[in-house]
Amino acid sequence: MSNKQDPVIYWIRDDFRMHDNIALHEATAENKELIIAYFPEYMGKKNNTAEGMWTQNSFEKLKKKYKEEYKIEITSFAGDPKQQFSKLFKAYNTSQIYINNVCDPEINKKDDKLKKFFDKKIIFNNFNSSLLFNSKDIKNNSGSYFKVYTPFWRNCLARLIIRKPLKPPKKIRAFKNKFLINDSHNKIKYHDWALKLFRYFTPGEEEARSQLFKLGGLIKDYANNRDYPVKDSTSKLSMYFARGELSVNEVMFHLIKNKSKINKNDFDKFTSQIGWREFSYNILYNFSKLSSENFNKKFDNFEWDTNKKNLEKWKIGQTGYPIVDAGMRELYQTGYMHNRVRMITASFLVKDLLLDWRLGRKWFEETLFDHDIANNSAGWQWVAGSGTDAAPYFRIFNPTLQSERFDKEGKYIKKWIPELIDLPPKFIHSPSKLSSVDLKKYNIVLGSTYPYPMVDHSVARDRALKLYKKLK
Ligand code: FAD
Repeated sequence: MSNKQDPVIYWIRDDFRMHDNIALHEATAENKELIIAYFPEYMGKKNNTAEGMWTQNSFEKLKKKYKEEYKIEITSFAGDPKQQFSKLFKAYNTSQIYINNVCDPEINKKDDKLKKFFDKKIIFNNFNSSLLFNSKDIKNNSGSYFKVYTPFWRNCLARLIIRKPLKPPKKIRAFKNKFLINDSHNKIKYHDWALKLFRYFTPGEEEARSQLFKLGGLIKDYANNRDYPVKDSTSKLSMYFARGELSVNEVMFHLIKNKSKINKNDFDKFTSQIGWREFSYNILYNFSKLSSENFNKKFDNFEWDTNKKNLEKWKIGQTGYPIVDAGMRELYQTGYMHNRVRMITASFLVKDLLLDWRLGRKWFEETLFDHDIANNSAGWQWVAGSGTDAAPYFRIFNPTLQSERFDKEGKYIKKWIPELIDLPPKFIHSPSKLSSVDLKKYNIVLGSTYPYPMVDHSVARDRALKLYKKLK
């Protein structure tokens, strides 16, 4: 039996914030002594990935903040929570654990095992603090889940309730005992690569909140401009959502509060993107293999190519298609890529190179700061056509046309591919079409300063169509 005096645990997972944090709020509500625990290995993020580095950096900042504001030390444990919780239970009768849900099937499996092991001796108090809706509550008329975004979001909007965001606790009574020793030896060893990434984006709740308060300005003209990578008109909130430095509830609250100052189209378009995030999580909840298996089983027979050299060229931005290369280089240099370009680069990998979408998904998982299992997997399956929507299998992005449309002046391309800086806009989208005289004039040696296109798009398109037709 738990006692009024027993300390309680708040277990930090993907929720590196103090604001609008339901589990933290509940754990401190009765002013019991609090243990804040963190098990980095449990979350399974690899240290040398972009999301892994972000996580470590954000955690260090949060830890410092807890110490400054509340004089409480977060105990970072190595290994398995089972042993640590057992010890705490035996020594101090600590039987209440507060957790914000992590919507990741692998983590959920581990959680289930843990709960089973403690067989109700320890109570896990779970909260949904990262989504607007509990995925299990959203059902269509036939009691199943939605596979199409528009009716899904319409249904969500009809029942949307936004809470007033919770403030950080006024005070926390820290549980002080020598028993709790930081035994996680995850000393941060940043990759040179990651250090470069931090020139572009800054982890942590503080930065997340400063972005939040600028949101109205950040999404000005969002509806018109969000598809143009060089216009930089999207919010860049994805990495803060992904690591729980900001709650989506608070973002919606802020938007609704400031609705009169935001153009209606921008408001609707932006909130509909928040809806896409909810939708991806809804699909993941109902199809837990989203990251590894085709939602549409027909794709299990697809004859993927296995050319590793082609995969490498795509990863390092050496495909010979400037918009694809610019996107892949932006990703590797900043840990971020614009949404339109994610679609173009992903389509190129899957449809032009015929490489399995899972290879691209994995590369994005390693290199994106905002990597998020639901959005990444749903994004890749959407592009491949293997996802939930009845996508016409012939939806194949033409990289040159996309480039001409969404980066007309070639400014985005030039930002990431300095080799092409001298090219005028009319040539920038397909340098291989230039005459040898023009190539010389613009300081380009194809095959040396910039690659030849690795495939001919129209030939690749026909090849993809033939294979996709076979699936029917
Ligand atoms: P904004 O345009 O400002 O949008 C606001 C928020 O809405 C985003 O932060 C995000 O949470 C959500 N959102 C926007 N677009 C989408 C979308 N298409 N699907 C789901 N949610 C969306 N997003 C991730 O957060 N993590 C990923 O790992 C990820 N991988 C992707 C992989 C592929 C192949 C594709 C096509 C898309 C992927 N996305 C992913 C979705 C989208 O590209 C990013 O959410 C967006 O670019 C983030 O930038 P932003 O915060 O400036 O977006």
